[in-house]
Amino acid sequence: MNILVLNSGSSSIKYELFDTIGNRVLAKGIVEKVGMKGSFLKIDKPNGENVKLVGEILDHKIGIEYVLGVLVSANHGVIQTLSEINAVGHRVVHGGEDFSGSVYIEDKVIKVLEKTSELAPLHNPANLKGIYAMQSLLPGVPQVAVFDTAFHQTMPAKAYMYGIPYTLYTKYKIRRYGFHGTSHRYVFSRACAMLNADPKTIKVISCHLGNGASVDAIKYGDSVDTSMGFTPVEGLIMGTRTGDLDAGAVTFIMGKEEITYDAVSTLVNKFSGMLGITGVSSDMREIENAANAGNERAKLGLDMYAYRVTKYVGAYAAAMGGVDVLVFTGGIGENSASMRQAICSELDFMGITVDNEKNKVRGKEADVSTDGSKVRVLVIPTDEELVIAKDTEMIISNLK
Ligand code: AMP
Repeated sequence: MNILVLNSGSSSIKYELFDTIGNRVLAKGIVEKVGMKGSFLKIDKPNGENVKLVGEILDHKIGIEYVLGVLVSANHGVIQTLSEINAVGHRVVHGGEDFSGSVYIEDKVIKVLEKTSELAPLHNPANLKGIYAMQSLLPGVPQVAVFDTAFHQTMPAKAYMYGIPYTLYTKYKIRRYGFHGTSHRYVFSRACAMLNADPKTIKVISCHLGNGASVDAIKYGDSVDTSMGFTPVEGLIMGTRTGDLDAGAVTFIMGKEEITYDAVSTLVNKFSGMLGITGVSSDMREIENAANAGNERAKLGLDMYAYRVTKYVGAYAAAMGGVDVLVFTGGIGENSASMRQAICSELDFMGITVDNEKNKVRGKEADVSTDGSKVRVLVIPTDEELVIAKDTEMIISNLK
């Protein structure tokens, strides 16, 4: 079965065409700057080569039409006709309380998604644009939604409720939802496979450290707590997001700077985190380079970043009454040996010890803990597209 996986963002569309029988990626790439000057489609060829095709891509539908054209094109095509695409799997950021798993997209699902958009105004409307575009470009081809939030629907109320008036929950569904669920679910299943462990017997803390970042406490296969909340702003310090921040500081800033909703949302989402602290960049490689060159704010940023993750690991071990496996994933978790080391350096007391030699690994699955470490420390590159393709295949197969 050939599944087209789409991740439609506000100005970008990532795609991957996955062959579930051969278990291989046939094509992948990204459309960038949708609706802006200088839009283009970049194809990542299997040989590592990149092809950039510049075009006027005014909206998501035109962008996806461009992708479909490239998939069957003489120069870059990988299939003969579009009828070889059997299904489409969409990454959808927010499923609210309505979806605790992936779903076949039909009209009633779209209606719920449209309602859920107010919970994720930066993400869900773009995901929906991808769905509408596919409905008109490939009518009759089944579509599936895979949610970032779904995996966390197992969290107990004591973990997902905020200390705010209860009516705000009943009226507006303000609660913690968590994100990166597809990634946490994937690395959990890979961790079980790597350790030959029964998912129902292990307690795992998964650290997805990328531009966005979150920690997940997974007890016997269920997400029981996670660091992102109502929005992806809560929790860890991220590339440009604050992470945990006193709500009193937010209202204070709003008063002092005389700013309202939009400006404060931009502040906490786009100008804070590592970018805001270091003044260097939101990109961890550039921050590490600056710190190595002696930049004090870059060093402070790295210390703060690691310290916040360390605290969450401690908290989630307490939440689960122990931990058997600590997983690192995401661009930083997979690649930065020094960040993994910094996070684990204070966790000896919990039986977490990293082997410096094994920890030199970059971007591939590995157990980097010492032989004597009570807790296994694993590096696992995430693959959210694979999960989306597999979920889509499963749901489509069950329809027949
Ligand atoms: P992601 O959002 O998962 O693509 O992760 C992006 C983040 O991973 C950026 O902050 C990158 O700087 C970081 N990253 C990627 N490669 C490395 C590396 N070799 N060392 C440190 N950070 C890296």
